Amino acid sequence: MLRADDDLSWYARKADGLRRDVGLAEAAPGPGAVPRVDALLAELVRGGIKGSIARRTLYTRRLPPGCRGCLAGRGTNAFVTGLCTRDCFFCFNAKPRVDELVVHGIKLSSPEEAPAVVARYGLSSVGVSGGEPTLRPERLLRLVRALGTLSSRVRIDLYTNGDCLSDDLLAELRDAGLDALRFNVVAREFDLEPVARALAFFPETAVEVPAVPERRAELEDMVLALDRLGVPFLNIHELFACRENAAAVESRGYGSTGERAEALLWEPVAGAEEAALGLLLFAQRRAERLSAYYCSCRTQEDISRRGLRRRRRQVAAPP
Ligand code: SF4
Repeated sequence: MLRADDDLSWYARKADGLRRDVGLAEAAPGPGAVPRVDALLAELVRGGIKGSIARRTLYTRRLPPGCRGCLAGRGTNAFVTGLCTRDCFFCFNAKPRVDELVVHGIKLSSPEEAPAVVARYGLSSVGVSGGEPTLRPERLLRLVRALGTLSSRVRIDLYTNGDCLSDDLLAELRDAGLDALRFNVVAREFDLEPVARALAFFPETAVEVPAVPERRAELEDMVLALDRLGVPFLNIHELFACRENAAAVESRGYGSTGERAEALLWEPVAGAEEAALGLLLFAQRRAERLSAYYCSCRTQEDISRRGLRRRRRQVAAPP
């Protein structure tokens, strides 16, 4: 049942009418940008891409299991700490960083409170993130173990940059009930060493990165390397700007497309869609085993709407 103080819940923060301007200057579309995107989409269709072209929710072989609950609006985020070992320019976390545990937008005083939040909202998948969640290994392990006590099974994926990921911690996370890890390898300049080690513990290991247009060559090399390693999943995001990263994104020369998502607090960056679709097409053509999935800003918008609809239904008809 929803409580009055849940008004700061994740979906409410993401999706309600609190939008403020991101402040990124609009970029004029470069010559030929629209036809290039159309041509990429046509090539992807010819290659048998799955999903929705209209919503830009596209994948090559199969969806990562952890994405299904999220796409249905039944996913949420468990934020283990705001602290991080890196400072990625695209990072959307609030600064200054705060060392706090927040689940579904609700600040908790202990990891053992998390199952009640997940059960209250009928959620089926939890993305455990930060900051860098492995900076607080005890809190992280307690959270994963606590989520495992729920009567209905919840899928748990851990988002990490791999900086603090020892083999001992990997084994403990597996034994605690974690399902898979998702690596931001851009944070480590495409060093795949932690990814390769994690694969021995978690067969559903994934890499999840924004398709940063200026890193196209490294991203394509990464696709080939992941495929050779036998990593099953790559999630590609559209680079976006939000309040928290707008200054850093702008300092790299990126501008806004001017598209205003209705249910999100961020805006796609001009050229980001073309870069993401180009990388997806590269993976479709060149990877032999790797499944690549494009989770676009439109996809995120759809997820937010579904989550908000579920939340409103819960308010209208509390269990
Ligand atoms: S590793 Fe993740 S949390 Fe840390 S700075 Fe980069 S995007 Fe942000």
